[in-house]
Amino acid sequence: MRGTETVTPAWLKELKEKAPGLLIRENVMMKNHTTFRIGGPAEYLIEPVSEQELSLVRQAAAQNGLPFFLMGNGSNLLVLDGGIPGITVRLGKGFSAFGQTGPAGFWAQAGALLSEAARKAQQEGLSGLAFAAGIPGTVGGGLYMNAGAYGGEMAQVVTGADAVSPSGPAHLNREELRLSYRHSALMEKPELMVTKVYFDLQPGDPEEIKRQMEDLQARRREKQPLTLPSAGSFFKRPQGDYAARLIEAAGLKGFRVGDAAVSEKHAGFVVNLGEATARQVLELMRRVQERVYQASGILLEPEVKMVGVDG
Ligand SMILES: Cc1cc2nc3c(=O)[nH]c(=O)nc-3n(C[C@H](O)[C@H](O)[C@H](O)COP(=O)(O)OP(=O)(O)OC[C@H]3O[C@@H](n4cnc5c(N)ncnc54)[C@H](O)[C@@H]3O)c2cc1C
Repeated sequence: MRGTETVTPAWLKELKEKAPGLLIRENVMMKNHTTFRIGGPAEYLIEPVSEQELSLVRQAAAQNGLPFFLMGNGSNLLVLDGGIPGITVRLGKGFSAFGQTGPAGFWAQAGALLSEAARKAQQEGLSGLAFAAGIPGTVGGGLYMNAGAYGGEMAQVVTGADAVSPSGPAHLNREELRLSYRHSALMEKPELMVTKVYFDLQPGDPEEIKRQMEDLQARRREKQPLTLPSAGSFFKRPQGDYAARLIEAAGLKGFRVGDAAVSEKHAGFVVNLGEATARQVLELMRRVQERVYQASGILLEPEVKMVGVDG
């Protein structure tokens, strides 16, 4: 029908020719792909299943000047209401394998869920990843964020990572990753896409590790609003204090802007009560920052990553 045809851009035709099986979707609502259940459309959402496909997609973006964003499981993201222009990549099924190297060496591909990596390590009698069992991200996203909980964090167990970049494959060792509180060197190197992470774990009793994981899960269920969409702790922990304590002390538990709210159960979480927009979350964030600053002199910084354009 005249007038309703869309023209396939040349770069997309070329990419489809080079990688015929590649899963490419257009205008995909990110609210369906983030734990916050918020976000406008990704212009192109692509799921490569091999390093070769991943490299081809990255090259297509670089050669055609297209914005490029690599997501994990979308559990630490606030995608803005206007969506994400250009190419968004999510690692597909070919990036979820695990393996062992020696008695305590363990590796996981970057698209695997942290919970599955923790379970796999537990089954193999390897201790050190129990902290990650309840973190709803991928191994790649966990490394990028140096995810941590209940005294454990990626920095304690990661020895290195493989990555691909537009200029080819790369390996980063522990020092080069510069992992610190919710920070990694990957934040300053957006060209690096982590494909595999190496861990140094400790031999342990599978039953004991399982008990530890169940205990941490129970603690999460008790304290965190796990039945409502969120991106986890919204703010970073300020030096010497806790964001949740400061927010509660400022009288903001339950504070709302539209359907975005400070959780009644855990003031460190911003939850989506139904139809929250990114704009509402950002307004809520600004007001919380302002009130906490007035009450305590501390400026809370978001831990959640904002991506995309305003709607
Ligand atoms: C209910 C709930 C509880 C949570 N609890 C915790 C917790 O206890 N501790 C904690 O630390 N976090 C927690 N989080 C936050 C979140 O799960 C972590 O930050 C997680 O590590 C994010 O991983 P992801 O795969 O979802 O990454 P995404 O949110 O998809 O992306 C986060 C960032 O990582 C980058 N990234 C993702 N994959 C790669 C890759 N392969 N290579 C390079 N960069 C990459 C993205 O570009 C983005 O900038 C929680 C979230 C929720 C919803």
